[in-house]
Amino acid sequence: MSLPIDHLSTTQQFIERELAYSAHNYHPLPVVLERGEGVYLWDVEGKRYYDFLSGYSAVNQGHCHPKIVKALVDQAQKLTLTSRAFHADLLGEYAEYITRYFGYQKALPMNSGVEAVETALKLARRWGYDKKGIPANQAKIITVEGNFHGRTLNVVSFSTDPSSRDGFGPFMPGYEVIPYNNLSALEAALSDPTVAGFLVEPIQGEAGVYVPEDGYLARAYELCKRSNVLFIGDEIQTGLARTGKMLACDHENVRPDILILGKALSGGMLPISAVLADDEVMLCIRPGEHGSTYGGNPLACKVAMAALDVIKAESLADRAQELGIYFRKQLQQLNHPNILEIRGKGLLNAIVIRHGNPDAAWQLCLALRNHGLLAKPTHGDKIRFAPPLVITKEQLDDGIRIISESLAVLISQ
Ligand code: PLP
Repeated sequence: MSLPIDHLSTTQQFIERELAYSAHNYHPLPVVLERGEGVYLWDVEGKRYYDFLSGYSAVNQGHCHPKIVKALVDQAQKLTLTSRAFHADLLGEYAEYITRYFGYQKALPMNSGVEAVETALKLARRWGYDKKGIPANQAKIITVEGNFHGRTLNVVSFSTDPSSRDGFGPFMPGYEVIPYNNLSALEAALSDPTVAGFLVEPIQGEAGVYVPEDGYLARAYELCKRSNVLFIGDEIQTGLARTGKMLACDHENVRPDILILGKALSGGMLPISAVLADDEVMLCIRPGEHGSTYGGNPLACKVAMAALDVIKAESLADRAQELGIYFRKQLQQLNHPNILEIRGKGLLNAIVIRHGNPDAAWQLCLALRNHGLLAKPTHGDKIRFAPPLVITKEQLDDGIRIISESLAVLISQ
C-alpha cells in the first residue's frame, strides 16, 4: 500500500506522482533530476551527480551547453515553426552546413531517432525499386540480431528483444535478421537479389555496447557494394564524436550510403534527427511522399548547427578517443572480481557484471547513485558508462573512484 503523499520524502513524492499519472513504459533509477550543467546533474534534494549516461548519448556536448542554449533561445524568439508548406530561411543554410560537415549531397531532417530510421528504410526500399529494379513490393532489408533502432511497429518488427516485440504483432514483412558480427551470414543473405539495404549499428549500444571485430564494418560495406545493396549506418548513438571519431564508421573508413543521425544532433535540447545520402538515393523520394510537420523547423536547424559547431570547436572526438583509452585502462587496473568484461570505444563503454545475482547490475547502479554517479543497467548484467564528452580527466578520475568504491556492494552478494 502506498503512503499518503505528504509522508514521503521529496524524491518519493515526485516518483509517486509520476507513477500515478504517467504511463509505466520505463523503469527509471529512483532519482529525480531538476538541473544539469556540463557533466553534472542535480536532483530535487540538491544532491549533485556525475551523469554517466548522457541521455543515451544525446548530451555529448554536456548539459545545457551555453552556445546551444543561446542558439535555442535566440531562435525561439524569432521563428520556430513554419511547416514545410513554405520555405523557411534556415533550412537551406542548415542542409548545406550538415551535408558539408559529413560529406553527403543531401540531408532529410526529421525529429526523433526512430523517425530517421523509418526514413532510411523507406529510402532504401524506394531506391531498390527505382534504381536496382527489385520487383514491386519485394524489397528486403537485412538487419542483425541484438539490434536497437527505436520503438515504432515497423522497427520492432525486426527486433530480437522480446520486451520490444512481444504482444505487439502482427509485424511488418520484408526483413531478414542475421547474426551480428558475422560476415558469412551477411554474404549468404546478400545473395538474394531482392535485398535493398543492410541496416546496422557500428557498435550495438542498447545491446550493451557490443563492439564487432575490427574489420567487420569495412568488409560488410564491401560485400554490400558487391551485391549493389545500400549500407545503412545507424549512428544515432555512436555518432557525433561519442566513440572517438566523428562517426563510429570512420574507425574503418566506411562511408555509409545512408547515414542516420539523432540524439546529440541537438545536444539534448529537442528531438532532432537527420538522414544523409547522395542524390542517387535521396532524390528517389519526391514531393509529398515523406515528411513530418516539425522536420527541419527553424528552431531545430539553428540548434543543430550550434550542436555540431560545439563538437568540432571543442574537439570532442579527440577527447573521447583519449579519455576512452584512459577510462578502460583504469577500470582494468581495478582488477575487480565482479567485472567480467570491460568493452567500448571512445567514451561509449560498458562493464559486464558477474552473474550470481540477477539484480547485481541494478544494485550497483543504486550504489553508484548513492556515491554521486548516475548510470543505468542494460540487458540485465551490463552497465553503460558514457559521460558527456566535455568531461575533464579530473572528473573522469573522480568517476572511476566512485565506480571503484561502489563495486564493494557486489562483494557482499
Ligand atoms: N537507433 C539507435 C542506435 C538508438 O540507440 C536509438 C535510441 O536509443 C534509436 C535508434 C531511437 O532513437 P529515438 O529514441 O530518438 O527514437
